[in-house]
Amino acid sequence: MLTRMSEFFVRTLREDPADAEVPSHRWLVRAGYIRRTAPGIYTWLPLGLRVLRRIEAIAREEMAAIGSQEVHFPALLPSEPYKQTNRWVEYGDNLFRLKDRKGADLLLGPTHEEMFTLLVKDMYSSYKDLPLSIYQIQNKYRDEARPRAGILRGREFVMKDSYSFDIDDEGLAASYEKHRAAYIRIFDRLGFDYAIVRAMSGPMGGSRSEEFLAVAENGEDTFVRSPGGYAANVEAVRVAAPEPLDFSDVPQAQVRETPDVPSIDALVQLSNERYPREDRAWQGDDTLKNILFKVIEPDGTTHPLAIGLPGDREIDEKRLEAALEPAEAVPFTDEDFAAHPHLVKGYIGPRALGETSESKVRYLVDPRVVTGTVWISGADEAGRHVYDLVAGRDFTPDGVIDVAEVREGDPAPDGSGPLTLARGIEMGHIFMLGRKYAESLGLKVLDQNGKLVTVTMGSYGVGISRAVAAVAEYTCDDKGLAWPRSVAPFDVHVLATGKGDDIRTEATRIATELSEAGLEVLFDDRKASPGVKFADAEILGMPTSVVVGRGLKDGLVEIRDRRSSERRDVAVADVVAQVLDEVRG
Ligand code: ATP
Ligand code: MG
Repeated sequence: MLTRMSEFFVRTLREDPADAEVPSHRWLVRAGYIRRTAPGIYTWLPLGLRVLRRIEAIAREEMAAIGSQEVHFPALLPSEPYKQTNRWVEYGDNLFRLKDRKGADLLLGPTHEEMFTLLVKDMYSSYKDLPLSIYQIQNKYRDEARPRAGILRGREFVMKDSYSFDIDDEGLAASYEKHRAAYIRIFDRLGFDYAIVRAMSGPMGGSRSEEFLAVAENGEDTFVRSPGGYAANVEAVRVAAPEPLDFSDVPQAQVRETPDVPSIDALVQLSNERYPREDRAWQGDDTLKNILFKVIEPDGTTHPLAIGLPGDREIDEKRLEAALEPAEAVPFTDEDFAAHPHLVKGYIGPRALGETSESKVRYLVDPRVVTGTVWISGADEAGRHVYDLVAGRDFTPDGVIDVAEVREGDPAPDGSGPLTLARGIEMGHIFMLGRKYAESLGLKVLDQNGKLVTVTMGSYGVGISRAVAAVAEYTCDDKGLAWPRSVAPFDVHVLATGKGDDIRTEATRIATELSEAGLEVLFDDRKASPGVKFADAEILGMPTSVVVGRGLKDGLVEIRDRRSSERRDVAVADVVAQVLDEVRG
């Protein structure tokens, strides 16, 4: 196909959009690929749509290669299935809900597990029909709290979501592996540097789950890796609990005066000055700090929660969010403290906490707080702390919660060495859902013995529209977009620069021949200066350009490579063959 710039629906902008936070957003808007319609909601212009369609095509090819079949659900969905699985409530404010004229609840699908489960239930009834894998490429709707970076985190976005249906666990494991392999091929073709990391299943439920993260400094996800091959999203890191310690030699707990210690550092300093110990100095991780939250359940009910963790660590908000999902936690306010007179703000110790204590506040501790560990903690009186407080002797928490920050250098939970931290953009997520949805929606089939059994499922998502932004983010430079061949909206950009009929005639011939040979050709035939055309070609970012201009009088045209900036003159007669070679690799 030959597309003439003089007729093409595109406008490049000289200014950055005011809300652009990351380069991909800036360039996709400036190059006329997308246009903001509302916060987190974008219109695809012809160029952007071409990239989107190419990424969709890659996903379709790889889904077909594992035998997955395409279907297409509506985005406007009835609420009943989502009420049945409780996601109508659990999704909280992220769900776009609406009512029809009769007052019935509807929603805009944030993801489609319920609908796929019911569809298979409708159509299939025997083990002979399984395994099955079906997918769609669909717009999803989520009222994200922080839509960000253009289409990277939108409120409407395009997802490829597939679902597998199997009769038993081995079947599910095989379906999961097939999808994992397909995802590796998809992301290899998109050219990302990506990591496959352990993930939390979150409100999806289920057992095994992994994310495909494009490694990127400005990514929103933090993940860890060890030299021995451990890789996990920080939310999914489970700290290995140390063995319980023998505490028979630890003296009795004592309350000591600790005036004016507004911070852990101040407490440590005062302890070393006033109460030094012989073997080593007190440190932050000798202290046990207790932080209070109000937990809000999806149905609106609330309860207090105290979290105890070593004083040198902070709570990681994302880990806390993931651990409590679908409930949310907000810090205790002065009002909340007033309602709990047993809790002395700044001096809360483990002995005032726990479901069996007077406060009745649920008390969960970091996995490092095992039986026999010795702590300095609040004495539940202003200006005092308790020393030699032993877990399992002087206090017993209600349970464990693994939400402390993970640090560079922390040991990997599987013993595979020290962790390093990196950031990434979540591009894909695969889940072994198991029987959760099939159970709540009653998807059963007859097995070989004529017995009804519940089907086991997997669910697998790729952020297709996010991938447009992520590929752009990886490849753009300070001049504009620079697409890899696998997803570029056009294979080649032909520019006619300079006046003269022969330039125009020759450029038209080259563009036409390339197009007839099967390439997607963008032809800059506008009456604009060479400077404008060169700048636009750099912003738009086609991998290869052919410049027909001044050199033509010597029988030469120029081939430019957008990504390497390499330029070379070639004889007019050879240019079509050379470009075809390059594009077809
Ligand atoms: P995130 O943690 O980034 O919010 P998620 O875990 O909620 O994503 P999933 O439900 O796993 O997302 O969705 C599958 C894929 O859809 C994600 O891996 C991501 O690539 C994409 N995706 C999710 N939310 C958005 C969004 N708001 N905008 C664009 N793509 C998204
Ligand atoms: Mg996810």
